[in-house]
Amino acid sequence: MFELTEPQKMIQQAFRQWCENELQPKVEALEKAEINPFDLMRQMLDAFGMRDAMREGMKRKVQKMREKGPVEDKKEEGLVEDKKEEGDPDDPMEMAQRDMMIPFTMIKELCRVAPGFAMSFGVSTALAGGTILSKGNADQIEKWGVPINALDKVGCWCLTEPEAGSDAFGSMKATAKPKDDYYILNGQKTFITNAPYGEIFVVYAKIDRGQPKDKQPVHAFVLEKGMPGLTTGKPFEKMGMKDSPTGEVFMDDVKVPKANLLGVEKDNLRDQAKESLGNERSGVPAMCLGIIERCFEESVKYAKERKQFGKPIGEFQAIQLKIANMYIKYMNVQNIVYRLAWMGSAKKRDMAFICASKAYAAQAAIEVAMEAIQIFGGYGYMKEYHVEKLLRDAKLLELGAGTTDINLLTTARILLRD
Ligand SMILES: Cc1cc2nc3c(=O)[nH]c(=O)nc-3n(C[C@H](O)[C@H](O)[C@H](O)COP(=O)(O)OP(=O)(O)OC[C@H]3O[C@@H](n4cnc5c(N)ncnc54)[C@H](O)[C@@H]3O)c2cc1C
Repeated sequence: MFELTEPQKMIQQAFRQWCENELQPKVEALEKAEINPFDLMRQMLDAFGMRDAMREGMKRKVQKMREKGPVEDKKEEGLVEDKKEEGDPDDPMEMAQRDMMIPFTMIKELCRVAPGFAMSFGVSTALAGGTILSKGNADQIEKWGVPINALDKVGCWCLTEPEAGSDAFGSMKATAKPKDDYYILNGQKTFITNAPYGEIFVVYAKIDRGQPKDKQPVHAFVLEKGMPGLTTGKPFEKMGMKDSPTGEVFMDDVKVPKANLLGVEKDNLRDQAKESLGNERSGVPAMCLGIIERCFEESVKYAKERKQFGKPIGEFQAIQLKIANMYIKYMNVQNIVYRLAWMGSAKKRDMAFICASKAYAAQAAIEVAMEAIQIFGGYGYMKEYHVEKLLRDAKLLELGAGTTDINLLTTARILLRD
């Protein structure tokens, strides 16, 4: 359906080289938490001149916002329309290639090698940083958005709680009680990517003015490492994504200035976190594509090389069927990623497609990684072969950003409602 442009292919190739030369040799140390993943991410961004470019780009955004005045506040209140992007939103090729294809390609390339590393990078920059960029005012973007996006600081995005996972909003217990110029935050967040290294925390909590729980609006606040009452737990031991540190965040009477509320306080607001969740789900198929592409390529190579009964195993029809089925999933997920890139660039929001894609791509990644291990036989079960790691990591993609069932149910709900 689509192809990368020549300049995009060159970027992709350069990026693949960095991943193979710099990231692949460090995967084991990353998985054992022997090296700081964020130092390596900084080296990666520096190698491509991206940190300076991000700082410059954001400086210009902040300057524009200041010149225009408090437009963001009016946008929150629905008084200002989003600026229409240049380009033809009905031309999928043009729009897909505009601004989303490069980040998706970067994520895909990283996930061929180290999906957890990619996840930590995406959570800090796109999820925590992206929430500040889309909801924050000029001061907030300058203070927190710029350092998170240039990775001077590590960001976390904190929604899930021990008793509020799939039902993140309804069961949320974290509260923010307004007092003078502050909110007092209490609660506990769990499974938080990057928490052990976290410096800037985007935390969702219910604003408690004494109204019943189900009437309390959910808002995002920015908390900073070192605030009294804010602590993090030990890194969790996990099945996969070991190259991504995960932990808990505790808030015990944390005094958070009103200036740290993202957006404008509104009654019964839930959409704020849902929008970020939609963005998170849009990025998952690109992660899955990296896993699928690598497993597929390794399997084809192995099927040609490995000989049993006097011939390459690729000559057995059972192996050929596996390769063909892997290829179907590979192509489907690739097309999904291109479509999501087009939707992102054209500002088209189709939550049914986003949730369905996330569910499909995550399942496909697991199935393809499982098939790869089967093709590799006993060797596929050994750490020495990369497909073993990719299977362990793939399973998380069915859990994070809403489980597969929750994404399928949300898809069906939207389709039946519309
Ligand atoms: C490694 C890792 C990193 C993560 N990073 C972050 C992060 O950075 N920030 C963050 O906020 N969260 C993060 N999460 C949390 C993740 O988003 C949640 O784990 C996920 O939303 C599921 O919640 P839960 O684990 O509480 O499962 P539960 O909600 O308890 O679900 C358990 C099972 O019940 C099913 N289920 C629940 N409700 C229904 C229903 N109504 N209908 C049918 N089935 C249902 C689910 O599909 C699932 O199979 C992370 C999780 C992991 C494992």
